[in-house]
Formats: sequence, C-alpha cells, structure tokens
Amino acid sequence: EPYLVEAKELKKYFPIKKGLLGRVVGHVKAVDNVNFGVRPGETFGLVGESGCGKSTLGRVMLHLQKATGGEVRFEGRDIQQAGPKELRALREEMQIIFQDPMGSLNPRFLIRDLIGEPLRLHRKMSASDIDDRVIELMNLVGLDVNRRNRYPHEFSGGQRQRIGIARAIALNPKFIVADESVSALDVSVQSQVLNLMMKLQKELGLTYLFIAHGLNVVRHISNRVGVMYLGKLVEVAPADELFARPGHPYTKALMSAIPQPSPGQKRDRIMLQGEVPSPVNPPSGCRFHPRCPYAQDRCRTEEPLPQPIGFDREVACHFPLTVDL
Ligand code: SF4
Ligand code: MG
Repeated sequence: EPYLVEAKELKKYFPIKKGLLGRVVGHVKAVDNVNFGVRPGETFGLVGESGCGKSTLGRVMLHLQKATGGEVRFEGRDIQQAGPKELRALREEMQIIFQDPMGSLNPRFLIRDLIGEPLRLHRKMSASDIDDRVIELMNLVGLDVNRRNRYPHEFSGGQRQRIGIARAIALNPKFIVADESVSALDVSVQSQVLNLMMKLQKELGLTYLFIAHGLNVVRHISNRVGVMYLGKLVEVAPADELFARPGHPYTKALMSAIPQPSPGQKRDRIMLQGEVPSPVNPPSGCRFHPRCPYAQDRCRTEEPLPQPIGFDREVACHFPLTVDL
C-alpha cells in the first residue's frame, strides 16, 4: 500500500534533566516505536488522552521536531535525510493547523498579511499577485474578503480557525496535520470547520492527519483512526469498523466516554480506572494493564505487538475484543 506519509519505528524521547549540570536522569518516551502510514487523499484520525504523544507524533511527522529514532517517509523519501533545499520544498508540501489560532497568529498583523505571509516567505510573487491569492484563499475558506484589513482579535474563534486554514493551504500543500484544530470551538462551530476541511480536502486533494483527544470529533471526518496510549499506537482501523467493533480495550474505554446518541442505544461500557500512568516509567508489559479490566498475568510481563485482525485493522493487545476470522 503506497503511503503519502509513513512512520517507521518512529521514536521521540525527551531527556529529563536534573540539577545545575543538567544531568540526564531519564527519558519521556513520548513516541515509542510507532508504525503507520497515511494514504493519499485520506483523513487519518489520531486520538488519545492528553499526554499520550499524539501532538509530538504529528510534529515529528512534519519534521518540526527531530525524531530520536526511526524514519518518517514522505512520498517514499526519508525526510530526515533531506538537505536544506529539499527540506524547504517539503515545508511547502506539509503544513500544520493548530488548536489555538490566536496563539499562532501575530495580533499586530492584518488578516491579508497573515494569510499572505507564507507566500511572501516561500514564493517570489508581486504584492498584487499576493493580494489576489489572499482574496482567492479567503473565498475558499468562507471569510468575507471585505474584512481583509482587520486584525485577528476582530474575528470569532471559528473565523480565526478559517484564517489558520487559509494560511495552511496557501502554498498548495499535499499533507496537513490538524492538531486539535476544532477542540476549542463550540460544537456547532466545530462542525462548520470540519465541513470546510472536508470540502477543501475534496477540492484540493488534501491528505489529513487529524489529531483530537476525543473519538467523537474524528468520527465523521476520518477514513481510518489510530488510537494512541502512552507513546504507543494501540489500534488502527477503518473508522466505521472501529466504532462498530473496537478491538482494543482502551478504544472501547474511549468510546464509552462518548455521550450516547439516545438512551435506547446502550452499549456495554468500560470505565477507565485510575489515572494515566507517567510516560517516564510506563507500566511493564502492556502499558494499559493497570487500567484494563481484561488484564491477565501475561499482560503485566509481555508487551503486545500490533497484530492484524480482520481486513485493514491492527490491534496491539494479547486479548483483542474483536477477532474476525
Ligand atoms: Fe488489556 Fe492485556 Fe490487552 Fe493490554 S494486552 S489491553 S492489559 S487485555
Ligand atoms: Mg496536544
């Protein structure tokens, strides 16, 4: 299966330093041997509780942070081997949309300058060509072009997210990481922004890695979903199958946290026990075992590796809930 972007045995460890000399006393294994790929034109939803490493994984996939080990392949090439010139070209192909557009938008820039900024930095374009492109981009994302001489604070949260999207698509990228990019918005505004992202995906042929802490946000936008727990990818499945039959007990627990659509539709639930353990000293064996209601002796000693279950699905669990044979 050809991937647009692929992680191979990807690792990102952060050293923990102590004392005046900054002695390294341990590592946070934020991303710990992750393998997966995003196919051209798809939306891959990446979910997990905060601190599970999903944002770090997204940033390492874009080479905004350097991996500790393993590879990130973009169109088959290991981007960590790319020279400065190739990297600059890759920067145009891969973009990010953040959770908080206010934090990533310079408050003293006019909207026209904010949206035009990537063009000024990466393209040799005249000022009037940039203005034309800014107008085109504002129309694409549903912003009123008459407001292009305004400042970010004059826009609502949803509109600022549209500004962030306009900046992200300005250079015609192929791949966009959306990191919690609708999480801070009201539910009704969320769905407007999600609809916009799906429309742009169709029109511009975009591929998304869509990061969120809750499954409900990724449900409708994703073709496939990956579930992360303490630096590990524990399940990957087509979205509809994941929701119909979660394979990993942690996936089922995340689903149990979603409000039921109606009281009649009860599904049997798993409630998460205890706190998320520290990624510094993760539990032995299966990292989920202290919180897993299905844990057995083997789970405490032996790490479960990702296994295929059914078509196009993988689960890292010794006792998966779904076995399609
Ligand atoms: Fe639970 Fe064991 Fe599966 Fe881990 S390997 S999720 S502890 S059943
Ligand atoms: Mg995050």
